[in-house]
Amino acid sequence: MTNLNTSAPILVTGATGYIASWVIKNLLEQGHTVHATVRDLNKTHSFQHLTDIAAKSTGNLQLFQANLLEEGAFDAAMQGCEIVLHMASPFVVTNYKDAVKDIIEPAVIGTENVLNSVNRTASVKRVVVTSSIAATYGDAIDILNTANNRFDESHWNTSSSPEHQPYPYSKVAAERKAWEMAKAQNRWDLVCINPALVLGPSLTKNTQSGSVEVLLQFANGMTLAGVPAMWNGIVDVRDVADAHIQAAFNPAAEGRYIISGGTLSLLEMGKILAQHFGRKYPFPRNQLPKFAFKAFGPLLGFSRKFVELNMGYPIYFNAEKSQRELGMHYRNIETSLVEHFQQLIDDGIVKKR
Ligand code: NAP
Repeated sequence: MTNLNTSAPILVTGATGYIASWVIKNLLEQGHTVHATVRDLNKTHSFQHLTDIAAKSTGNLQLFQANLLEEGAFDAAMQGCEIVLHMASPFVVTNYKDAVKDIIEPAVIGTENVLNSVNRTASVKRVVVTSSIAATYGDAIDILNTANNRFDESHWNTSSSPEHQPYPYSKVAAERKAWEMAKAQNRWDLVCINPALVLGPSLTKNTQSGSVEVLLQFANGMTLAGVPAMWNGIVDVRDVADAHIQAAFNPAAEGRYIISGGTLSLLEMGKILAQHFGRKYPFPRNQLPKFAFKAFGPLLGFSRKFVELNMGYPIYFNAEKSQRELGMHYRNIETSLVEHFQQLIDDGIVKKR
């Protein structure tokens, strides 16, 4: 990418989101003009935090309405932009009715619609798509096929489907669509950011992000009887925002970037939370044996196949490319976990005990 005009506006889709809010904050504080798309301009409470941040910053925020499922919806917001950060996509773990309509179509059709707008907008030179580590593997058992016991940017999720692991499927299908469309032209280049599970303080109480869904399971008693032997790659939300900014502005950035600060098991997460918040919350004390989780998992929305392929396989991620090429220095993920849980208490989302 050459001759980037840093005074041109920058488009961020899904501006109300947990991660996008941090990206927009950074851009505004650096003095940029941000064209931010939201699904519904009437829901002012969902973007009030952004207008507050903009008022205190040297940057300029302009809001546009755009739904991922509407062809052409992003055209107006993209006018004059050289950089497009496509972050909007449903991050839903369990809380959905129809996987295809609620998760997969907005992710894949949404990416296609945004990139069709990019193809129509001559000013765009770089597109950053927020993908996920979920686009690099399908089930934890896939770690057995890696050479160094770590997933890296050469790995792709080949096993998820609309029926088995719909959210990971939505991410890999959307990322593949983005690469297919990027390779079909030569005016703009594509960089994909593949974050691990994102934790850390949120700038908004209103996010429906799966990150909050995961933490709430530790607060609502669901894990009290024990957790499955499962592991998460984790990264701080502020690091993920920095990675997006680097991917947008660093001319040498290319390809995919795994963004991960480390791995914790669900039991380790429970122990860290118990150490900081005490046993008055129903944090897990032990791991459930696989046979027990196979029996009870389906009642909690986890299929036997999911339990079989995901329990008992620690997963690790190689984020060295992001350190080398984007200059990432990862924050301590235990602190991110504690800060995020504290914020859910402060915001009244988790009841104070
Ligand atoms: P979030 O807070 O739920 O943000 C999702 C955003 O997508 C919201 O702004 C939402 O808008 C928007 N969106 C959803 N469906 C839409 C539609 N049909 N039309 C327009 N906008 C729509 O979640 P997040 O955690 O920040 O996730 C942001 C991105 O990061 C997603 O691409 C997600 O897959 C990816 N990611 C997240 C994590 C994580 O752990 N959080 C990890 C890896 C990758 P509304 O406000 O209108 O709902």
